[in-house]
Amino acid sequence: MRLNIKNQFLINYIVMFFISTMIAIFAFILMDFASDVVAKTLLKNQYTAETLMQEDYRSIDTERVVSLGGGVQVVNSSYEIVLSEGVNSFKSNRLTASEFTDFLTSTNSKGVPYSYSVEYNENNGFWLIVTFPTSIRIDFSVVRNKEIPSQDMKNVATVIIATVLFYLILLTLSTIIYSKITSLSIVNPLKKLYSSVKSLREGDYSARVDLGLQNEFGEFEEIFNEMAQRIESEISLRKEAEKHRKQLILDISHDLKNPLASIMGYSELCTGKADLDKEELNKYLRVIYENSRRANNLITDLFQLSKLESSEFRLRKENVELCEYIREVMGEYIPMLEDAGFSYNFDIPEEEISVLLDKNSMNRVFQNLITNAIQYNPKGTKIYLHVLQENSKIMIIFKDNGIGIPREISKNIFQPFLRVDTSRNSETGGTGLGLAIAEKIILAHEGEIELITDIDQGCHFIIKLPKN
Ligand code: ADP
Repeated sequence: MRLNIKNQFLINYIVMFFISTMIAIFAFILMDFASDVVAKTLLKNQYTAETLMQEDYRSIDTERVVSLGGGVQVVNSSYEIVLSEGVNSFKSNRLTASEFTDFLTSTNSKGVPYSYSVEYNENNGFWLIVTFPTSIRIDFSVVRNKEIPSQDMKNVATVIIATVLFYLILLTLSTIIYSKITSLSIVNPLKKLYSSVKSLREGDYSARVDLGLQNEFGEFEEIFNEMAQRIESEISLRKEAEKHRKQLILDISHDLKNPLASIMGYSELCTGKADLDKEELNKYLRVIYENSRRANNLITDLFQLSKLESSEFRLRKENVELCEYIREVMGEYIPMLEDAGFSYNFDIPEEEISVLLDKNSMNRVFQNLITNAIQYNPKGTKIYLHVLQENSKIMIIFKDNGIGIPREISKNIFQPFLRVDTSRNSETGGTGLGLAIAEKIILAHEGEIELITDIDQGCHFIIKLPKN
């Protein structure tokens, strides 16, 4: 169940309300228990009419009651007060029957300032009345006789104060403990979030939070982790791009350094030596030309690659009948293949397959695949090209049975400047950018290119393009 903070607070307050009610009930039970204990200590219960009763009222011991602030009266059967010591709540010594009946009735009333104990002596026909002023008494009404202080006051006050104090202490403690426990549900997730945000700020992009909560904090956790994940991948992409950029600059400078150094060296030779014969001069000039061509090829390829990578680059696509287009392109390379001593087999269907293509860019892809095959493979290598349809895609398979590319390099072969063998390349004058350019062109056509290869089994390129 999803529990949001609002509901959580409501539950907390309901629980606190329940706890306080329980404490209040407990305090009342305690008070009841205490009042039972106190009742035993009250003077009125120690000196009752029953315990003081004597057959002859004259022998009743009134001294102790009077000394404790109470009073003793004896009323005979004619309602005359025949004995009166200490506190006396009767107004006259002679009562009427109704006055005495009213008095007897009032002795059990609550809220009166005296407590009475009455006992009737049947044998001698008189009533013994023991009176104690009520110091303080709780009968759900508090009664206090201010005029006559009593020893009971101290006991009862102690019990009441102790009970109230106990109640307050219990309530305060439970409020503090409960508030601490409930605040943990807010403080703990906040602490975890805070430490993760801090780690992130300090550059630890792997920082994540795990709160295991279903409330708003749970949602916050999701957003935070998603944000941290994004930052982490952005940063690693940026680092990767930076590494890539540095490597590219290194590769470019390295690849330009050799031809330029050679051009400089041979130009110096040509200009410095006045006695150079024509044959020697021609040899030097050929070297200068070859190196200029290499540097120029590199700069042209770099320019094309950066153009393809720029966000402004747009293909000039047109609706092209693919089979016819490939036949035309391959036809142009047949003399080149024959000169190189290559055999070929083109399996191009007769049917019409229309594709949206930028012919100029696509020419560059085929040019690169064919010139690579010729450059890197020996005479007698066979080239095979096959066009087929697969669902909504067109597949162009370009294969040779030459020396191939090792598997460990093949997965990165479309990266700029990656070459199988650099020494082999320096002879062929390859820039190491041809396949990178080819891949960018195919991707711009919303297609894909992959290399399936094994050394000694030749190269096997598969180009997939969407059908129009
Ligand atoms: P380059 O300009 O060096 O040819 P590419 O990106 O076109 O650059 O090719 C990268 C590397 O892949 C080449 O240097 C070469 O080592 C290898 N290669 C490409 N095509 C073939 C192939 N058909 N047969 C053998 N090796 C190849």
